[in-house]
Amino acid sequence: MIDICPTTDCTGCSACFSICPRHAVTLIPDQEGFLHPQIDQDLCIDRDLCRKACPARQTPSRKDRLPEELFFAAYHRDEDIRMASSSGGAFSALASWMLKQGGYVCAASYDDDFKGVHHVIIRSEEELPRLRTSKYTQSRTGTCFRDILRLLKQGEKVLFAGTPCQTAGLHLFLRKEYDKLLTVDIVCHGVPSPVIFADYISYLERKYKSPVKNYNFRDKKWSWYHFNTKAEFKNRKAVYRGTWEEDTFMRGFLRDYFLRESCYTCKYSKHERYADITLSDFWGYDASDGGFPNDDKGISMCMCNTVSGRDAFESAKSSLIWCTRPRKMSLTNGGFFPRLATLKERQAFLEEYRRIGFDRAVPKYMYPEPVPDDLKVLYFWGRGSRALKRSRKLLRLVRKIQRFFRGSKKQA
Ligand SMILES: Cc1cc2nc3c(=O)[nH]c(=O)nc-3n(C[C@H](O)[C@H](O)[C@H](O)COP(=O)(O)OP(=O)(O)OC[C@H]3O[C@@H](n4cnc5c(N)ncnc54)[C@H](O)[C@@H]3O)c2cc1C
Repeated sequence: MIDICPTTDCTGCSACFSICPRHAVTLIPDQEGFLHPQIDQDLCIDRDLCRKACPARQTPSRKDRLPEELFFAAYHRDEDIRMASSSGGAFSALASWMLKQGGYVCAASYDDDFKGVHHVIIRSEEELPRLRTSKYTQSRTGTCFRDILRLLKQGEKVLFAGTPCQTAGLHLFLRKEYDKLLTVDIVCHGVPSPVIFADYISYLERKYKSPVKNYNFRDKKWSWYHFNTKAEFKNRKAVYRGTWEEDTFMRGFLRDYFLRESCYTCKYSKHERYADITLSDFWGYDASDGGFPNDDKGISMCMCNTVSGRDAFESAKSSLIWCTRPRKMSLTNGGFFPRLATLKERQAFLEEYRRIGFDRAVPKYMYPEPVPDDLKVLYFWGRGSRALKRSRKLLRLVRKIQRFFRGSKKQA
């Protein structure tokens, strides 16, 4: 058996699958739906090719790296685009700029049934909305790397956007720098299991007795900070909304319980980046010293890592409201740091999930706790404030008493 990299390190980026000229590599889903390469040894002629393209084995080298990254806070001038994006919509500004030049954009889109995510290549503004917003499950890149290489060889411009490991995989697969390629990676604290995501959508469909026709992890109806998930259904007017404290999938995701195994030891969730531009939510944003006010509709943190990245941002920034921000403020994001749960906790969760199902397993591991509507008001007065903590304690006590009385009623 030939190993490209240890199974636990494999990011599922598809660089090995894409680079093999004999199509000897097939990507097979594991129990949680994460893709892993399987090699047909009869077809394999050069195992070094896939090993050299593997971002788990090495990191790409970037030539035009800036001596020091540049940091911007930004949001899209178009309010609708901003509201439809997870943070400030900086991705849309960069993508539109690329499309206006006749280039192509490759980024993540939901599958038609909203039970999975895959990368697609588009070349028109009309197709851009499907690439917007964060989809919190691993995206399948399929044949995109090969398609990007073909486009670059034809002299076309391409923007690729994805997780840092996917971006590293693409650079290693390409084996050389292309002037016409712009890579954008997101600050990523890990990709959740595709099987669990599909299970969760199926659960919503059973509950609402209708197929999902639209899903958004980052609806900003209430707030950007206090975002909620939103599902719309084909046969129902009813809309499902869950705040990040309440929604089962979001709770498990934010607690890092069902990420890809390699995410727990990710070598790409660090400040040094291999993409031209890095985007994230600007959670640590502070408007002091020349910043714009934070109206809680979403702000992107844009980090330009290379000369190409800086030039692209310069060209696209006319559709953004932006300001520069200090390095110290920009790099506080949790996505740059290690995961909250350990691999052992992940294992325990998954065993429980397989035994009792997702919806019963998540509350056992829940974090943070659900906040009822009346307490949401308090939330806005100060996250993590003493008042909120006291209220949560009180709520736990009330629930304990309710459970006690329910129990004694049953006995009676
Ligand atoms: C799995 C995941 C984890 C993340 N973790 C963090 C974090 O810890 N901290 C933080 O600040 N930001 C995180 N982000 C990034 C953040 O949510 C926004 O995507 C980012 O700020 C860009 O926002 P935007 O408003 O500019 O564009 P948006 O329109 O919101 O984002 C669209 C971009 O996200 C990419 N994308 C969406 N889903 C996926 C996916 N499944 N796989 C690969 N690429 C995808 C698209 O390709 C596109 O480039 C994460 C995103 C994902 C997908």
